[in-house]
Amino acid sequence: MLRKVLIANRGEIALRVLRACKELGIGTVAAHSTADTGLMHVRLADECVCIGPPSPTDSYLNIPAIISAMEVCDADAVHPGYGFLSENADFAEQVENSGFVFIGPDAETIRLMGDKVSAIRAMKEAGIPTVPGSNGPLDDDQQRSLELARQIGYPVLIKAAAGGGGRGMRVVNHEKSLLQSIYVTRTEAKSFFGSDAVYLEKYLENPRHVEVQVIGDGKGNALYLGDRDCSLQRRHQKVIEEAPAPGIPEAVRQEVAEACINACQRMRYRGAGTLEFLYQDERFYFIEMNTRVQVEHPVTEMVTGFDIVREQLRIAGGAPLSASQDEISITGHSIECRINAEDPVSFLPSPGQVTLFHSPGGPGVRVDSHLYGGYMVPPYYDSLIAKLVTHASDREQALIRMKIALEELLIEGIKSNAPLMRELVTDPTIRQGGYNIHYLEGKLNR
Ligand code: ADP
Repeated sequence: MLRKVLIANRGEIALRVLRACKELGIGTVAAHSTADTGLMHVRLADECVCIGPPSPTDSYLNIPAIISAMEVCDADAVHPGYGFLSENADFAEQVENSGFVFIGPDAETIRLMGDKVSAIRAMKEAGIPTVPGSNGPLDDDQQRSLELARQIGYPVLIKAAAGGGGRGMRVVNHEKSLLQSIYVTRTEAKSFFGSDAVYLEKYLENPRHVEVQVIGDGKGNALYLGDRDCSLQRRHQKVIEEAPAPGIPEAVRQEVAEACINACQRMRYRGAGTLEFLYQDERFYFIEMNTRVQVEHPVTEMVTGFDIVREQLRIAGGAPLSASQDEISITGHSIECRINAEDPVSFLPSPGQVTLFHSPGGPGVRVDSHLYGGYMVPPYYDSLIAKLVTHASDREQALIRMKIALEELLIEGIKSNAPLMRELVTDPTIRQGGYNIHYLEGKLNR
């Protein structure tokens, strides 16, 4: 078992990791920037260490500072959370080369999955259905690109191989704009992600976003923890998520589950991972794999009763999986609303001091949040301030609980998107379920 974990992240996920460490009796070190001394997990950790100034590049992305902090505090492992360095293969490699444990897959797997082109190739070989596409990066041969797009059929999507966070993608509707769009996406990809590799895939016009949660022990055993629907998105960013994904025929679900498990066993996957798919006309199409814990992991925890973060820590400490596949079952339905410090209409960030925070409660309500009255939301980071999660015997009840929880939630001093969430949970289409990834933007533009 691990002895002392350094938490190289902030906000709600840092607190989530801290809680799991405490449950397992593992010591904790909160590595934080100068802007984050007031964070809840910094207050609650056994030790804390400042790793640099507010700017993420100087702190939460500063590899030498984090590794030095591990040395100074004598931590034996690092939990990267999500975002920041969580999918940085060089970081994982340097951590392991310095004699520490990186809580996540090995650097080679992170690298393989971090490049969407190699990820798609690997998954295709493992029998996972993918989106029809270029099956590799585009080269400089313009005729070949035009021919490929013609074969796939317009509209097509040009995507950066190293892209992430919903950036580095461009839809092309007509052949006449293909070459120019490839050029622009390449240039952007180079400046955002440091690689100009791009690829082409069919642009699916009304898919849902359905993803599969897995966890592996790195020795060839892996568990399937069900799926989630994350179709409610704005600018390719998830807004509300749920588990299980509603309305998927059992045979289709089973088939993709088996393919995912086979793939993870085959690559001896270690740690928590998510295979993201687009789902349209009762078919799954793999788009990418995230090699870390995800923001929306609580909905899976609620319906399975399986603690994903705790399992990450156990696996990193060399323990076997704590359950067998037949011990995992899905009970009821769970929904998560991402509460952000932002204007509910303009979506502009709204940092500042929280003068009052009242967290909802009651049966089937879980709140993952680092907020407290008096907390100062800094302007430097992601605006996520709370995840409101409800669980009930069915989807409708989970939505009713969410509506009540949102009514109870009080955040004063800063603006939040809670008013928008209150509107969304009573929206007839959302209550119905099964809407596609364009639904929210269409609704907001009306
Ligand atoms: P990122 O790594 O930036 O999150 P993804 O490949 O996961 O990128 O795609 C993010 C979102 O973009 C998806 O959830 C979906 O909404 C949209 N998207 C991606 N690929 C396609 C596609 N082939 N057709 C239609 N929409 C897509």
